[in-house]
Amino acid sequence: MNKTNLFKHVDVNQFNHDLLHWFYENKRDLPWRKTQNPYYIWISEIMLQQTQVDTVIPYYERFIKTFPTMEDLAYADEETVLKNWEGLGYYSRARNLQQGVREVVEEYDAKIPETRKEILSLKGVGPYTSGAILSIAYNVPEPAVDGNVMRVLSRVFMIDDDITKVKTKKHFEDIVYRLIPHTDPSGFNQSLMELGALVCKPRQPECLTCPLQKHCLAYDEGVQHEFPVKKKKTKPKPMSYIVLIIYNSKKQILIEKRPENGLLANLWQFPMIQIEDDDQITHGEQIITKNIKGVTDIENTKKQFFHQFSHLKWSLNLFRANLLVKETWERGKWVDRGDLELYPFPVSHQKIIQTLI
Ligand code: SF4
Repeated sequence: MNKTNLFKHVDVNQFNHDLLHWFYENKRDLPWRKTQNPYYIWISEIMLQQTQVDTVIPYYERFIKTFPTMEDLAYADEETVLKNWEGLGYYSRARNLQQGVREVVEEYDAKIPETRKEILSLKGVGPYTSGAILSIAYNVPEPAVDGNVMRVLSRVFMIDDDITKVKTKKHFEDIVYRLIPHTDPSGFNQSLMELGALVCKPRQPECLTCPLQKHCLAYDEGVQHEFPVKKKKTKPKPMSYIVLIIYNSKKQILIEKRPENGLLANLWQFPMIQIEDDDQITHGEQIITKNIKGVTDIENTKKQFFHQFSHLKWSLNLFRANLLVKETWERGKWVDRGDLELYPFPVSHQKIIQTLI
């Protein structure tokens, strides 16, 4: 649609009235909605990116209890931060959050800045998080455009640009700048997100009870299911591994810390050996002895675990073995079984720990 004609069918005041009225009648009672503390809002917004609200609630509550102030998080041990994030995924977000908070403590005297430019300069803060903090904590009329918002607006305005493109997101931000009421930017942004989560859902939008029905072009034309337009993702690449539970003579288990950079950086795991595909596990014993000196009593547990990332799909084949010789292991550590839970592990290895208990 031509940008100049975009607002032809929308009465902005009526749109905002209908949306906000619905929001204040129907909004969910969420813990981060009970605060205006920008630091807590920051935490909640980072946790909510690509994670369901119900999953986030206990993490959020535990996190702010463990790190009630920005100083507490800024100077916490990274391993403690990761432990409190364990299971949420996207661990680089936790590390970036800590670094960003440290920047606020050191450069802004522990007060989160109130301008878009300054907030955007903080580590891990992009346009969405910046808009969410500014509008919700400080009531500044800035857009906070996430997937929910793009879905709602793409339907209301029948925008068929690919929402995975940065250019399209900017287009939605421009639309929000034109819509957002200066009297209640916080309510406006939250109401669009809430409508996307509760009513204008991806597969089955509940148009009959939607407060924006009379403003919605896609509903009017019966094409709401055709929006938003999203380029198809490439399939995640399959990767197979042997994962080893290695015991020493004291029945301790070997764990190792992942590299400092890249996927799941600095989390702990059981030693992994990459194999070409799962068929290779029939040669598991030879592969293990070739890769690790001194292992004995190798046993294939026949247990298999899967984990999907956005770009990769792991298949983990679990083996057990003993290692009686004294080996030094780079970034490795022998731990008692009962102490495993003191270390932050990725979800896939947490599932393995469950089978050991
Ligand atoms: Fe979404 Fe339907 Fe509401 Fe349009 S009318 S905004 S498609 S729920």
